[in-house]
Amino acid sequence: MKRKKLDSKGNIIVGTTAILIVALLLICIFVVTTINFIHDSNIESTANDNFKYIIEDYSRNLEVLGRDSIAEATQKVYNGLPVHDSEDQIKKNLAKRLSEKNEEYKKKYDIDLTSEPLSVEPTDSPWKILFKVKLNGKKDGEMFSQIVESNSSIEGLRDPLPVAKLTIASGIMAYDDKIHYKTALSAYMLLHNFDSPESYIEATAPLTMKKCPYDPYVHHGDPNVLRDCLDTGYFHESADGSCYLCRLEGKGKCPHYGMEVFIQTHTPLGNESLSCSDHVVFADHYNGQKIDPDDWDSLILDSSHRKKYGLSGNESY
Ligand SMILES: [Zn+2]
Ligand SMILES: [Zn+2]
Repeated sequence: MKRKKLDSKGNIIVGTTAILIVALLLICIFVVTTINFIHDSNIESTANDNFKYIIEDYSRNLEVLGRDSIAEATQKVYNGLPVHDSEDQIKKNLAKRLSEKNEEYKKKYDIDLTSEPLSVEPTDSPWKILFKVKLNGKKDGEMFSQIVESNSSIEGLRDPLPVAKLTIASGIMAYDDKIHYKTALSAYMLLHNFDSPESYIEATAPLTMKKCPYDPYVHHGDPNVLRDCLDTGYFHESADGSCYLCRLEGKGKCPHYGMEVFIQTHTPLGNESLSCSDHVVFADHYNGQKIDPDDWDSLILDSSHRKKYGLSGNESY
C-alpha cells in the first residue's frame, strides 16, 4: 500500500512537470513567432517606404518624359516623316527616355529599374494624354513591380494635323506661331472638288496648342472675344474634332474627344466654301458662309458652329 501511494505521488509530479514543460514550450514558440512577425513587418514597411519615394519620383518624371516623347513624335511629323501609329511611336520614344532615366536612378540610388510603356491613351480631356508604365525595381534583395500612371499636357505643343494631313511637300509653312497654308489647302480642295478653293489661298491657323479660356463658347459673340480668340490663336474642345494622338496620324476626325481650331481665310471673295473649323475642312466637308461678307478676314462658318460660338453674324472684331 505504501509503495503504491508513493507511485501515485511520483506520477502526479511527473505529470505536472510534463504539463509545465509543454506550456513553457508553447509560450516560447508564441513569443519567438511574435518577435519574428514584428521584425518582418518592420522590414517590409521600411522597404515599401524606400520604394514609395522612388515610385513617386518616377511618376513626376513620367509626366515630363511623356510630354517630351509626344513632342518628339510631333517633330517627326514636322520633319516630313509620317507617323502611322502614334501610340506605338510615342511608346518607343518613351522607352528610350525611360531607360536613360533608369541608368540615372542606378547611379543615384543604386536601384535596378526596368520599365515597359504599356499604353498611351486619350483621356476625357483633349488637353491631357494618359501614360501607363510597368515599373520593376530591385534593391538590396528587395523587389517590387508596379504600374505607374501619369497624365501629360499637350498644351504648348505644335498642332501636327495640318502637316500630317497635307505633307510638308505641299508648301505649308509654320512661322510666327502660325500655320501658313499658302496654296496647300486650295490645292487639296481643288483635288477633292470642294467649292471655292480659291477662298483658302493664304489661309492661316494657330500653330501652338492653347486652350480657349472663353468657356462656355457662346461667349465668342460678346464684344471683342472673337477678336482676342483669333489674335491669340486658341483651340477649342470638340467632340467632332480629332484628338492630339490622331492629329499626329493626319486624321481630321476620330472617335475620341478632341479639339477644333478655326482656319482663318483672308479673301475678298464672298463665295460659299468649306466651313472653317479644321475637322470640317479636313474630314466632314460641309459649307459655310462668311460671318461678315465685307471683311476679308471674316470666318467662314456653318449654322451649327455659329450657334456653338454665339456668332449669329455681323459681329465686329
Ligand atoms: Zn476661342
Ligand atoms: Zn483620336
